[in-house]
Amino acid sequence: MPLYEFRCPRCGVFEAMHRMSEVPGSRTCRNCSETAVRVFSPIGLSALASDRAKAIGDAERSAHEPEIVTRVPNHPGGSQPRTTQDPRHLNLPRP
Ligand SMILES: [Zn+2]
Repeated sequence: MPLYEFRCPRCGVFEAMHRMSEVPGSRTCRNCSETAVRVFSPIGLSALASDRAKAIGDAERSAHEPEIVTRVPNHPGGSQPRTTQDPRHLNLPRP
């Protein structure tokens, strides 16, 4: 069974084992009986391969705290001018 993290408002984060199909959104803290809310973390997915766990963790994180993108990402070929060698494009209007 994988470990899941829960955050208690008094005691902080603790881990608890749950079946993947039965993991609750919150549970009672074992120390103080406060309601602890589940923390989404790739650590809880340790049963999976690390790359896959990272991908799932990133996906979960991006659902509620998406990364802010301020510029177009660099990718190979991105610096090439947007021209075409197709002769059918010669008669198209130019900007
Ligand atoms: Zn507690």
